[in-house]
Amino acid sequence: MSISQLAKSIAESPTLKMNEIARTLRDRGEAVIHLGGGEPKSKAPIDAILRASAKLNSADIKYTPSDGIPELKKAVIRYTEEHYRKVVEPENVIVSNGAKQALSVLLQALINPQDEVVFVAPYWVSYPEMVKIAYGVPVVVEPESGRFIPTMKDIEQAVSSYTKALIINSPGNPSGAVYPEELIAQIVKFCEKKDIYLIMDDIYHKLIYDGRSPVSCYAFSKKSIEQSKLIVINGVSKLYAMTGFRIGWAVANSQLVEAMTRLQAQTTSCPSALLQEAAVGALMGVQSGVESLRLMLENNRNVMIDELNAFEGVKVEKPGGTFYCFPDFSAYNKDSVKLAEFLLEKVRVVTVPGKDFGMEGHLRLSFCGSIKDITEGIERIKWALDPNAPNELFIGDRKLVRDWL
Ligand code: PMP
Ligand code: GLU
Repeated sequence: MSISQLAKSIAESPTLKMNEIARTLRDRGEAVIHLGGGEPKSKAPIDAILRASAKLNSADIKYTPSDGIPELKKAVIRYTEEHYRKVVEPENVIVSNGAKQALSVLLQALINPQDEVVFVAPYWVSYPEMVKIAYGVPVVVEPESGRFIPTMKDIEQAVSSYTKALIINSPGNPSGAVYPEELIAQIVKFCEKKDIYLIMDDIYHKLIYDGRSPVSCYAFSKKSIEQSKLIVINGVSKLYAMTGFRIGWAVANSQLVEAMTRLQAQTTSCPSALLQEAAVGALMGVQSGVESLRLMLENNRNVMIDELNAFEGVKVEKPGGTFYCFPDFSAYNKDSVKLAEFLLEKVRVVTVPGKDFGMEGHLRLSFCGSIKDITEGIERIKWALDPNAPNELFIGDRKLVRDWL
């Protein structure tokens, strides 16, 4: 078949594949536990639903400006002012079909063939593929300490004269690691000195625990938005549990936003008119749901970490944000793909292999489900791997007998 070289070089999204596997098994009536998911279980905010419903009922649903409706841009400007203490103008904002498209269009607007884009392992699965789609070269920083937070030296070593941009994701998917404020300050200053773009993927920025507050990268830059090569990516998916609505945005200098808008206009015209209204509802409506979600996730995180700390042989760092943790299972199996397949086959627990995030021996476990999912999921994994666990396990009324240890 004459599939393009580019398409052949792009990997399937492993996180979305895991969602599909979990869905298919559940539809078959299997008692699957999905610890692989990347979305909160709560419902979308009522203000989002009401606003989208009103728009739908008007039956007047047309193309919108390619960079987003003025009301949503206004809401993003307000959000940026409130959470980043940065005043920006409508021409500094582009609304896209999810933070994913905002990032992808951004990379296409920035990268010339062979330009390098640097990001830190373990990284979100889509970064390398998005860079490749834009004909750039992904460059991975592997922190020398083996931990999830790099040092400035780690980053400096990866940056070369070919580097066009650095992507930072704090709190980060899949580790949940939150970079210290001091490190963010150093990164902002370093990128300004090197004159490279700094892309802050802040999709989890308010899902942060232990009394910490989100950091505004703008606080460490003296440049005006128009002089700045700092870009902030965000969206409604995670904070408002609105993953299926597909609304995200980028805040950047107007020249970059204009280039991104041209690319977006020629590929998808605009984000859905209806779902942009929903995002306005979420951003401008009652905000108490965000804090309830954060509190629920912090409690889930504590339960997950207690369970993993009691798991002999498993090493885990407590995530400071997101709804993921990234424990090291290499004492049981160094091949994370085989381990994830084994857990799915034997005990019907869905996880995502660390290999897909650029770090072998680990599994990404999500704690965005219920406490029951977390405790039962870890119990099943323990049973599958730990020779000291009892030989039998009940999943519903099905009795499993372990014959592989
Ligand atoms: N960045 C990171 C790190 C993510 O985990 C996700 C999750 N999908 C995204 C960006 C994109 O989010 P969305 O497209 O749903 O807004
Ligand atoms: N970002 C989420 C995850 O990592 C959702 C799936 C995706 O877009 O990759 O699971």
